[in-house]
Amino acid sequence: MTGMFSQSQGLHEECGVFGIWGVPQAASLVYYGLHSLQHRGQEGCGIVAVNDAGQLRRVKGEGLVTEVFNEEKVASLPGPMAIGHVRYSTTGGGGIENVQPFLFRHNTGDFALAHNGNLVNSVQLRKYLEDRGSLFQSSSDSEILAHLIKKDAIDRRQPRILAIMEALNMIEGAFAFLIMTKNRIYACRDKYGLRPLSIARLGDGYVLSSETCAFDTIGAEFIRDIEPGEVVTVDGHGIRSRHYSEYRRNAMCAMEYIYFARPDSDIEGCNVHSFRKESGRLLWEEAPADADIVVGVPDSSLSAAMGYSEASGLPYEMGLIKNKYIGRTFIYPSQSMREKGVRMKLSAVKTIVKGRRVVLIDDSVVRGTTSRRIVTMLREAGAVEVHLRIASPMIKSPCFYGVDISTYDELLCARRNLEEARQAIGADSLAFLSEEALFKAGGRNDLCLACFNGHYPTSLYQSLEEANRDGKF
Ligand code: SF4
Repeated sequence: MTGMFSQSQGLHEECGVFGIWGVPQAASLVYYGLHSLQHRGQEGCGIVAVNDAGQLRRVKGEGLVTEVFNEEKVASLPGPMAIGHVRYSTTGGGGIENVQPFLFRHNTGDFALAHNGNLVNSVQLRKYLEDRGSLFQSSSDSEILAHLIKKDAIDRRQPRILAIMEALNMIEGAFAFLIMTKNRIYACRDKYGLRPLSIARLGDGYVLSSETCAFDTIGAEFIRDIEPGEVVTVDGHGIRSRHYSEYRRNAMCAMEYIYFARPDSDIEGCNVHSFRKESGRLLWEEAPADADIVVGVPDSSLSAAMGYSEASGLPYEMGLIKNKYIGRTFIYPSQSMREKGVRMKLSAVKTIVKGRRVVLIDDSVVRGTTSRRIVTMLREAGAVEVHLRIASPMIKSPCFYGVDISTYDELLCARRNLEEARQAIGADSLAFLSEEALFKAGGRNDLCLACFNGHYPTSLYQSLEEANRDGKF
């Protein structure tokens, strides 16, 4: 979206991956799986399937899963193995050439690759590979892994798993990769455990997904999460595991719990709705508000609002309603239309908020524009006070791991204290959840919290100069 119709959106995740091994008409199940992961990326999607003759075929396009695929296109991808991808583009930009899965034709065997996350040493690796003669088709990080896997193929013809493990040891950052050859699927997770990836059973076959909600959609039975630094091989021998790195952490992206994942997904043993509800309870303990009703910002803040309501005894009310039917091609109203009162995604319910003191629960504050707009909307609908409570700490730093928290300048809290942030938003009071509460809500002792506290789990590689050029600082 560009020009006068563009508007500042919320946070965006970079992608979701889904794969099926050993189930007839695998592509049709991948279609349903991707549909369940649609919240992780709406700009493009694709499926690659292996047919009975061992050939890899692909359909991909820009848009939602339901826009790119129809019955005919899914039927054009027969076979018992398939991987798919939904994309939101940040690194590498948009454009069909960056829509995944990537498909590589090679004399040692074709393969397909789908990736969620972001590499932090892509500049260095791209240069290293180009110096050795690699030609890149796209600007996406994912292609780098493919070139690394194949870089020594002609010299050594080593088993593919060794080449994959060697390549994984060269890349740094956040990733969940699915790599599919004509016989098997390899599922790989970064050694920091930043992005989720799980495996399930379906009949005699296996399913891989960024989120467990997609397993339920197709009736698959969850087996386990892929571990940080692990490569799981899925083929006729069942599932086999190898670790490519001695170093391992469980620094799951906290934003997966707070905002990205679907409430019906479980991430590393913790249900996302339960996490958010508990964070809402803790938010009441840390920052009680004197108010009449609790209102959550739909949809990702509703669980936290429920928890806040339960803990405080204040009634939970549907004070905001979301119009869910805004597609990619929706024409956003211009500034002058908005001034005339044209509302897009959210509306305040006047009869509920009028004359009430509202405690408004939101999951996070990025640019602050949405929070400001909602507070104003509630006041215009008659709320006498609006107390904003945020179910995460202040976002102060950019994310280098595939989430478009891009520059310090765009972040409301990067250079403001609590009172300055409150004034900028226009709320009667403002409070954020502590980092300790996030650990407590998840029942875990490690998480990535880098966008809150600047402690990045990986090296960042980018020199200050490069980061400046990319607008990170
Ligand atoms: S910096 Fe923030 S958004 Fe990025 S991976 Fe870490 S917790 Fe997630």
